[in-house]
Parts: sequence; structure tokens; C-alpha cells
Amino acid sequence: MAIWQCVKKCGACCHLDPEYRPDLHEYLNPDELELYFSMVGEDGWCINYDNDRRECRIYPDRPRFCRVEPDVFEDMYSINSEDLNDFAIECCQQQIEGVYGDRSLEMLRFNQTVGYIAR
Ligand code: SF4
Ligand code: SF4
Repeated sequence: MAIWQCVKKCGACCHLDPEYRPDLHEYLNPDELELYFSMVGEDGWCINYDNDRRECRIYPDRPRFCRVEPDVFEDMYSINSEDLNDFAIECCQQQIEGVYGDRSLEMLRFNQTVGYIAR
């Protein structure tokens, strides 16, 4: 069984361009929406994302909506903790596909690291 984990130096979910996330208002409250939009850089990447190191500059203090944690996912997407693993894997794959492509090295690395085997 594939087990979700965040794969280092991926960063796909830090590409925040709202054009690719039309449902934001469905899972973020007004304050979070404001914060989200304030974090979108001109190139679509989060202003807190270090593109060279491929990591978050404020990781310990990152907003709630950046966290893959049971209570956050339950709140935002009504996903219970049993389904969190599969849902998180799917979210990452969608995000990686959108940013880097379906056959990217990032996708390969993610699938290998979490132990995902396509059916
Ligand atoms: S898309 Fe997933 S693996 Fe990639 S940085 Fe985000 S949480 Fe980590
Ligand atoms: S705050 Fe950090 S984890 Fe959240 S999107 Fe920005 S760079 Fe990524």
C-alpha cells in the first residue's frame, strides 16, 4: 500500500497560481483566501518558496492550508483520517501533474517514494 509523505524538493503545491485552483473559495475561509492571494508571486509561485533550494522559507510557520494534517483536511475537504492517505496522494499527484507534468521526474520520484503503483 502506498503511504503518503511529502517528497523533498518537489514543491508542486507551492505553485499557487489561482488560475489553476478555481475551487479555492470552497475550502478557504475569507481570511485564508486573503492570505493565500497575498502569497501569490508574479510567476505564480508562493513568495515564501525558495525556487533554488526548492523548499519553503517559513516551513515551521507556514499557513494552516499548507499543512497535510488530519484536522486540516477534515475541515477543508471533509476528509476523515482514514481516507486522508489516499486523498493526499491524489492531491499531490494532481498538483505535480499540473506543475511539472504527468511524466516528470518529480512525478516519478513521488510515486517511487510513496510506493504508488499505477493500475
Ligand atoms: S505536492 Fe506533495 S510531495 Fe510535492 S511538495 Fe507538495 S505535499 Fe510535498
Ligand atoms: S508558505 Fe511554504 S508551504 Fe505554503 S505554499 Fe508557500 S512555500 Fe509552500
